[in-house]
Amino acid sequence: MASPKKMFQIFVAFPDLGLPSRSLSLSPDLTLHRLKRSLFPYQTQTQTLNSLYFSLNGKPLLDSSTVSSAGVTSSALLTLRLRVAGGGGDGGATGAESRDCYLNMYAVKKPDKVDPNETRISRWTTCALSTEPLAPPCVIDRIGNIFNKEPLVEALIHKRLPKEFNHIRGLRDMIPIHLSPIPDAGRPEMRFQCPISGLEFNGKYGFVAIKGCGHVLSVKALKEVKSSACLVCHKEFSELDKVVINGSSDEVAVLRERMEEERGRLREKKEKKVGYSLSGTKHGVDEKTRSLENVGHDRCGKRFKAVDIAPVNATKEVYASIFTSSKKTEFKETYSCRSLPLGRN
Ligand SMILES: [Zn+2]
Repeated sequence: MASPKKMFQIFVAFPDLGLPSRSLSLSPDLTLHRLKRSLFPYQTQTQTLNSLYFSLNGKPLLDSSTVSSAGVTSSALLTLRLRVAGGGGDGGATGAESRDCYLNMYAVKKPDKVDPNETRISRWTTCALSTEPLAPPCVIDRIGNIFNKEPLVEALIHKRLPKEFNHIRGLRDMIPIHLSPIPDAGRPEMRFQCPISGLEFNGKYGFVAIKGCGHVLSVKALKEVKSSACLVCHKEFSELDKVVINGSSDEVAVLRERMEEERGRLREKKEKKVGYSLSGTKHGVDEKTRSLENVGHDRCGKRFKAVDIAPVNATKEVYASIFTSSKKTEFKETYSCRSLPLGRN
């Protein structure tokens, strides 16, 4: 999921700590305080962190400012410096002791070195929201993230969904899926596989969920057995029913676009519906409604001209109905005619 804001690439030097410089990619909205924390994730003592400050071109920066408000531009060099306080006794840390403790915590683990293998597997074995191991019932969103249904529904109800999932607005945006478990009683966590090819659902192979029936198949199986019906339940599906699970950024972009298109179509449909039901109200609120109303009036005008020349003994409604092509328009026009000035009715 790409952030809408452009990421900054910056460099941080640690001359006082004797640590190697680092290159970081970060959001310009990040506060310097958060940045500092992320550099030392294993340091929990606020006081120790407070003894460090960033400076840009020799000018000290406030921790509370964001990267961009501090004037840091892309590819800028930030320096993390030690506050040299009174040398102890004032509650601040002295340079000597601080340097040691930073070296120690830095040595624990480099936070930016996450095993890519681990991340890949976790995307395929855990819920994207709760990070709990996947356990049916599972759903996917329209861009191919997998979730355990319960925590997702709960977060949706309580409006606790993180920003990255704000494309999930209701149950309609959750596609129920059926994962085929690997029969293995020995493992505490469930693992899944393609029911046709037996390939494991672990990120090494591409998988696709079929929207209509929810079956999850490996791309390989779908390629080998060319069929427009699900290989498990034989329900017909179209290319648009296939949702790539945990796809590449390109595949996600395609799915996202498809989702927006579907939403647009739905919105249009809704607007049309609303437009029709409003035609004939006395006071059209927006331009669109008003113009629809006018169309109604014009049609009515014509129709009533016909009525005006109706034989004296004919019932007006019956006579008018001769000129009405369908029941639907009759209803609409009759409805909108209520707003006509009395004299014309
Ligand atoms: Zn199926």
